[in-house]
Amino acid sequence: MSSTIDRMRRYLRELAYNLWWSWNPEAQALFEALNPLLWQASRHNPVAVWRALDEALLRDRAESPAFREHLESVYERFRAYMDREAENGHEQGLVAYFCMEFGLHESLPLYAGGLGVLAGDHLKSASDLGIPMVAVGILWREGYGSQRFTPEGWQLEHYEPLDPYLGPFVPLTYPDGAPILVSVPLQGRRVWIRGWRLQVGRVPLYLLDTDFETNSEPDRALTRRLYADGADLRIRQEAVLGIGGVRLLRALGIRPTTFHLNEGHSALLLLELLREARAEGYGWQEAWERVRQQCVFTTHTPVPAGHDRFEPELMERVLDSYRLELGLSQEQFLALGRVYTGDAREPFCMTVLALKGSRWANGVSRLHAEVSRNMWQELYPDHPVQEVPITHVTNGVHLPGWASRTAREFLRRYFGPDWEEHQIEPDFWARIDEVPDEVLWAYRNTLRRELIGFIAEYVRTQSLSVPAPALNPEALTIGFARRFAPYKRPTLLFRDPDRLARLLSDPDRPVQIFFAGKAHPRDDWGKRLLQEIYQLSLRPEFAGKIILLEDYDLHIARQLVAGCDVWLNTPRRPYEASGTSGMKVTLHAGLNASVLDGWWCEGFNGRNGWAIGDGTEERDPQLQDARDAEALYAVLEGEILPLFFERDEQGIPRRWLERVREAWKTLLASFNTCRMLQEYWQKAYRHADWSTVGR
Ligand SMILES: *Cc1c(COP(=O)(O)O)cnc(C)c1O
Repeated sequence: MSSTIDRMRRYLRELAYNLWWSWNPEAQALFEALNPLLWQASRHNPVAVWRALDEALLRDRAESPAFREHLESVYERFRAYMDREAENGHEQGLVAYFCMEFGLHESLPLYAGGLGVLAGDHLKSASDLGIPMVAVGILWREGYGSQRFTPEGWQLEHYEPLDPYLGPFVPLTYPDGAPILVSVPLQGRRVWIRGWRLQVGRVPLYLLDTDFETNSEPDRALTRRLYADGADLRIRQEAVLGIGGVRLLRALGIRPTTFHLNEGHSALLLLELLREARAEGYGWQEAWERVRQQCVFTTHTPVPAGHDRFEPELMERVLDSYRLELGLSQEQFLALGRVYTGDAREPFCMTVLALKGSRWANGVSRLHAEVSRNMWQELYPDHPVQEVPITHVTNGVHLPGWASRTAREFLRRYFGPDWEEHQIEPDFWARIDEVPDEVLWAYRNTLRRELIGFIAEYVRTQSLSVPAPALNPEALTIGFARRFAPYKRPTLLFRDPDRLARLLSDPDRPVQIFFAGKAHPRDDWGKRLLQEIYQLSLRPEFAGKIILLEDYDLHIARQLVAGCDVWLNTPRRPYEASGTSGMKVTLHAGLNASVLDGWWCEGFNGRNGWAIGDGTEERDPQLQDARDAEALYAVLEGEILPLFFERDEQGIPRRWLERVREAWKTLLASFNTCRMLQEYWQKAYRHADWSTVGR
């Protein structure tokens, strides 16, 4: 008996400390079953459950054959996954993937929004495919903050410090147990960095942390808040990530063949690679060429504020001693981040540094790459705009992680237990045509009902009081959830509140709309948009039909993308570089209604969802907003509502389901991170130059 208990304890520990559980619901169910209350209270954190295990509980579970079998079978699948051979010749080389944020699970506050969620999905798919990868990020102790509201609907942020010992983080130590420490000189002080490992399937994510007693208070605060305000905080955080990240990898004895800079925040890593090459004795030109051969770069936004630019004085103040380590004059140093290298006033731009220092660069959709080539053409005066070396790899989502439990059952049943292996084969998804309409419609209804059950419960616990809604499981259910950045135009639907009220007032065609999203803590405009939606939702004509959900995170996102019939996306084209939330609904038989921007320009074919507007742009943003709002009402009134409520004698909306089938057949195979990783492998990773790796 005691050996059984020891084995159980060992299995549970191993499972709890590998995020493989986060895309394997059977593994989550184990921990949930062990301690349902703590599972809820800890935001679904297996380590919390594991740490609270006591002998009596384990003894009790060891006596349950059902639990033992469940554990054994999950553990066997986990081991088989971890020991799987790399596929498709992916065993060559090693990629180091750097990102400021990673959205892996709601219990880990290491992300703010889409960039982080994409990075998390990137790691999960790299692990699934056996692409040799390590990742580097920051252990944000307070993350991006959770969202609360005042009674008037004004957003407040709440920061709950993370205790890494209560999460799946393992401190990095030398064999003798001493912590691995590296340092970076910043603002005349030595900032010490320690590291933690977070295992994501087969990919280790190394997280940098300055919040410990060796550092002074201002330096300890560097790794607390993600995207906190202030350029001098930001540049130091980016130095910790870029320079500190390379130093930590070296301390671990890791020599990647390719560094992938996911967004410009980590671009200072190029300088550290340059310093290394110089220290190995290479001349300037040759050293820089070696750096370029090692790096690839992904840019993520056409919004100008999304590209960090630092004033020359700030660069000098913060990175002066580092520049001396590099052996560069101030002009040479600043020139690396400037378009016009001789312009002494031009700020230091991280995107410019990243583009200059990478052998290959991409945007995250076809349209975004085109916009980026225009944006950065000045950097390549010898190239016509179409030859600016920025290509595209369109984003995706990690389908196994986004499929709800109900979706996984559906997939297993109709597509087979090995559906994940076939996800990038277009013909594979045509099997949806073998699923009868009755079954497909029942699937959709189940998912909508599950969402409504969740929301009815959730609104009771949130700080914002919303009129206790009588949610309707038959209503057309529309979702809008994303960061409340102005270019995403979360209030476009409310431009004509009377018209919207008419749309929602037909008792024979009930509609409900769920909103969720966070504004940046310093973005009062975004906060006003949230407040506007909240106050509109209190009006009698909207009560119970428009509902604002607080604290948008991965958990809320997962519920919404699974349950909504229609996913609304209204960015001001061309500012949504890709967008990914809409890719999460297809598997759940949801449909997209979106402005033709980002991924939807590639995804939409006229029959697999709806376009809002015709994909043209206006010079005047006011005009563009007015025109797009009109198009949005027109598509709702003229197409979406009529089609959803067009039922045959069995109550089935046949023509709606045709659209759902078309979406499965045309979207699923392309808009997933398995396809995305294969593409990064083909276009970027496998061209690594081994001679740059050195000893
Ligand atoms: C998918 C996702 C996003 C990305 O949404 P966009 O469509 O890119 O705006 C942001 N936040 C969370 C929590 C997500 O799950």
